[in-house]
Amino acid sequence: MKHNFGAGPCILPKEVFQEASQAVIDFNNTGLSILEISHRSKEFEAVLDEATKLVRELLNVPQGYSILFLQGGASLQFAMVALNLLPENGKAAYLDTGVWASKAIKEAKKIGNVEVVASSSDKNYTYIPKQYTVPADAAYFHYTSNNTIYGTEVFDVPASSAPIVVDMSSDILSREINVSDFDLIYAGAQKNMGPAGATLVIVKDEILGKTGRVIPSILDYTAHISADSMYNTPPVFSIFVSLLNLRWLKAKGGVAVIEQENIIKARTLYDEIDRNPFFKGTAAVEDRSRMNVTFVMDSAELEAEFLALAKERELIGIKGHRSVGGFRASIYNALSITSINAMVDAMKEFEELKK
Ligand code: PMP
Repeated sequence: MKHNFGAGPCILPKEVFQEASQAVIDFNNTGLSILEISHRSKEFEAVLDEATKLVRELLNVPQGYSILFLQGGASLQFAMVALNLLPENGKAAYLDTGVWASKAIKEAKKIGNVEVVASSSDKNYTYIPKQYTVPADAAYFHYTSNNTIYGTEVFDVPASSAPIVVDMSSDILSREINVSDFDLIYAGAQKNMGPAGATLVIVKDEILGKTGRVIPSILDYTAHISADSMYNTPPVFSIFVSLLNLRWLKAKGGVAVIEQENIIKARTLYDEIDRNPFFKGTAAVEDRSRMNVTFVMDSAELEAEFLALAKERELIGIKGHRSVGGFRASIYNALSITSINAMVDAMKEFEELKK
């Protein structure tokens, strides 16, 4: 059995893959593939409608927020957020916690004024800055809730009197959140929601339309809202597979249930990293992510040896991001505790071999 610790695109439940493959051949007994039906057909409208309702239900999205399935990944949101929320002479505040946050900052700077309120670049983003103030006159405050590359996560919503925009690409649907704490949430689908190709946006309607900017329609949230995510042809297959995955999550008991599993999974792995003298966690303990567990060993030789053992034990996708090195085990919703135990066993086995 392969244990897929890949950072994204990543593991999804086996049954989702099975149902998705069936629908490629014959979607809902229509005699047609999901890949060939019209996005305007009543069959696909039902898919989009159910996916939207499930996001609303699973995340408890209040009235006054729109839910969109867009394209362009989280990276397009770096630009769309600024275009839609940053007035010509306004200023946006950003927290810099890694590569993705920096990319969001870089795009926003092309559109308007940006103030970086704090950064953890001094320690290669191994912690989450906490002592900073968001200027009250900021049009919005942007942060990344889970830093996929560094294995840090922001669990408490930062204090901000400005509207809060959050990139939740790698921890959406992994833990309970209070959507009304936020004004805009976005996430590329390819971690806990579904396959690559769709991007989820949850936006508070009242914050839109205030910048005075002329925004190309395809980049304008209001155009997508008025067209119910059908401004143009949506990523049909990605939305469909996301729906299957959302159904799986609901059948499991929803976000509260998966959160408890994720807590146990993360604790099991961090406990072994802390116990085993060959491994060292890289993220500040209080900021450790429950989705991406980063760790190193004392030398490149030891890392190569452990990687070889991991390969033998079918532990896949554990190499750290090229900017960090070491290892990263991504332990998203669909990864079972069995896979965590397989990783822990390999770490123990390595320790024994080296004794
Ligand atoms: N933000 C975060 C937190 C990410 O992990 C990623 C991708 N891994 C991105 C943004 C970029 O997403 P995309 O490739 O969908 O543009």
